[in-house]
Amino acid sequence: MHELSIAANIISIAKGELSKANGQKLEKIHLQVGSLSGIEIESLLFALKSSHGVLEDTEIKIEEMPGKLRCLECGVEFESADLYTLCPQCRQFKLEVVVGKELIIKSMTIS
Ligand SMILES: [Zn+2]
Repeated sequence: MHELSIAANIISIAKGELSKANGQKLEKIHLQVGSLSGIEIESLLFALKSSHGVLEDTEIKIEEMPGKLRCLECGVEFESADLYTLCPQCRQFKLEVVVGKELIIKSMTIS
């Protein structure tokens, strides 16, 4: 499962930050997930929550960011929640992702 390895990455970053800050606990973490990333927010949340330790008592906020596609045919850019769509202007299916594939750790609160 894709989300498990992503969760493992986030956890190792969180651990690193925690030890860098000499912190005891990660109070909050705020993530932004692009809607074209293929990440299931529910699954990611579950994977993070079942992480045995670091993020177990952490308030986890996951925000979905809208994705943006560009049509390679006519150049128009438009927002879309998935990749399987046609250009709204010329109805072609030659699209590239402008934003929406990323996962960003927006903030962490360490105590
Ligand atoms: Zn187009």
